[in-house]
Amino acid sequence: MSEDNKSGHQDHSQPASVLDEMDTSNKNLQNIGVELLPVHTGGTVHAKRIPGMFRKFKWWIASFWIILFIGPYLRWDGHQAILFDLPNRQFHIFGLTILPQDIWILAMILLFFALLLAASTAIAGRLWCGYFCFHTVWTDVFTWIEEKFEGQPNKRIKLEQAPMSLEKLKVKVPKHLIWLLIGFATSFSFVAYFVDAFDLWSRLFAFEWGATETTTVLILGIATYFFAGILREQVCIGFCPYARIQGAMYDTETVVPTYDKERGEPRGRMKRTKPGEEAPELGDCIDCNLCVAVCPTGVDIRYGQQFGCITCGLCIDACDSVMEKIKKPKGLIRYASLAEFGGKQLPAIWKRPRVVVYSSIMLFSAAMIVWGLMTMSPMDVKALHERAPLFVQMSDGNIQNKWTMKVVNKGNMPMAAEITVKGPESLAYNVDKVIDIQPGNVGSTTLFVRMPRKQLEDVNTPIVITVTDLNNPAIVEEYEATFIGPRPR
Ligand code: SF4
Ligand code: SF4
Repeated sequence: MSEDNKSGHQDHSQPASVLDEMDTSNKNLQNIGVELLPVHTGGTVHAKRIPGMFRKFKWWIASFWIILFIGPYLRWDGHQAILFDLPNRQFHIFGLTILPQDIWILAMILLFFALLLAASTAIAGRLWCGYFCFHTVWTDVFTWIEEKFEGQPNKRIKLEQAPMSLEKLKVKVPKHLIWLLIGFATSFSFVAYFVDAFDLWSRLFAFEWGATETTTVLILGIATYFFAGILREQVCIGFCPYARIQGAMYDTETVVPTYDKERGEPRGRMKRTKPGEEAPELGDCIDCNLCVAVCPTGVDIRYGQQFGCITCGLCIDACDSVMEKIKKPKGLIRYASLAEFGGKQLPAIWKRPRVVVYSSIMLFSAAMIVWGLMTMSPMDVKALHERAPLFVQMSDGNIQNKWTMKVVNKGNMPMAAEITVKGPESLAYNVDKVIDIQPGNVGSTTLFVRMPRKQLEDVNTPIVITVTDLNNPAIVEEYEATFIGPRPR
C-alpha cells in the first residue's frame, strides 16, 4: 500500500499542491468532452457513474444476487428447493437432504469457496470485493437509487451540505424509504431460506411471526440499510476483515488495477502556451481526476495500490474514456502486476506456487464433494447391537442377538423400510414391522436374529442386514454386522 494513502482515501496534502498549479478552467479539454473534476474532500464518497466495460461487468455479476430473492420460492418435488431447516437439523438442497452426519460435505463446500477466494485474490486481487461481495453490490444499487433521487455527485454534495428544509426532505425521505424496503426485502429473503417461504408470508399477514423471525428480519433489514446506505465504502475500508488479510494473498504477480506512473507522470493539464513559451513536457495523465471521481471508495489509484481499492476496475473505464477523447492509447490505468512494471515476464498461472497450493486444495475438496454426493444414499441405516446381554441362549438351543434398527429417510418421499438379513443358512430372524418413515424423519424397529448354537463356528459370525424401501425398491442400503455367540464347544 502506498505510504501516501493508508486510510484508503486520497491524501489531500499531496495532490492539492499539484492541483494548485493547474489550469482548472482549461477550455481545450472541455471542448473535447473531458470534465475537470474536483478531488474528493472527505466525508461520504459520492462516486460518479460512467459507462464502460467494467461497469457493465459489475452489473452483470451483480444480477447474480437476484437469486437471493427468488431462491426461497423455487420448488423441488413439491418442497422448497433450498431450505436450511435448523430445528430439524436438515439442509434440503434440490432434493438432496444433508443431515448432521453428512455435514462434512458442507464443510468441504465452504473450504472450496474459501480457497477459490484465496486463489482468485492471488491471481487478480479483490475480485470478490469488486464484483461479487453483497455489500459492494447492495451499495452500488443504493447509490444508483440515490442518484435517481438526488442527481449527480456535485448536486448530492450540495444537498448534503444544505440545511434541513421541506425540499430536502421531499428528496431524502423517499430515498431512505426505498433503501429500507430493499433492506427488509433482503432480510425477509434471508429468513425464508430457514423456514418455508410461503408459510412465512402467510404467517406475516396473520401476525403469527415468532420472536426469532421478527428480530432477525428487523436486525438484518436495518443492518442492510445502515451498511449499504449510510456506511458504504467505510465498511470496505474500516470494518471488513477480508480487506485486512488480502495483503497476505497478494504477490508481485497479482494483477490489480494499476496506474502506469512512467507513462502518466509528470501529470498535468494541457495549457495554452504563449508564443515563444516552451510547452512543459507532460506525461499522459491530464490530471482530470475522473479516475478518483468514479471510485466508489474514494481512492486515487495514481498513488499506488491501497487497501481501500476493491479492484472494481471503474477507474480503468474512466481513464480509458479520457484517453479515447484525447487520442492517446488506452491503458494508462490497467490490470497489471508489479512484476510487469518491473519488466518481468509473468509466469504461467500453473507455475505460481501460491496458485498451485490453493488449486490443489480446491481440487481435493471438489473431489470430496463429488464423491460425497455420488455415494450419498437417500437412506441412512444404523444397527445398534444390544450390549447387555450380547446374546441370549434360548430354551430350544438357539442363540439370539438383538438390534435396534434406525433408518433415516434423507429423501423427499415417504419410505416403507423392509429389513432382511443374510448370513449362514441356519440363520433365522424376525422384525417387528415394516417402518413407515416420512421425509427427513427417523424410524426405528427391533430386529432379532437367531442361529442354532451347534451351527456356530466362531464367536463372531458376519451377517448382512439389508434395508429396502418398498415404495422405491431401487433404494437399498446394506449394513455389515456381527452375530455374537458363545465359544463353540
Ligand atoms: S481505485 Fe479503481 S479499482 Fe480501486 S476501488 Fe477505486 S475505482 Fe475501483
Ligand atoms: S489517470 Fe486518467 S482519469 Fe485519472 S486523472 Fe489521469 S488522465 Fe484523468
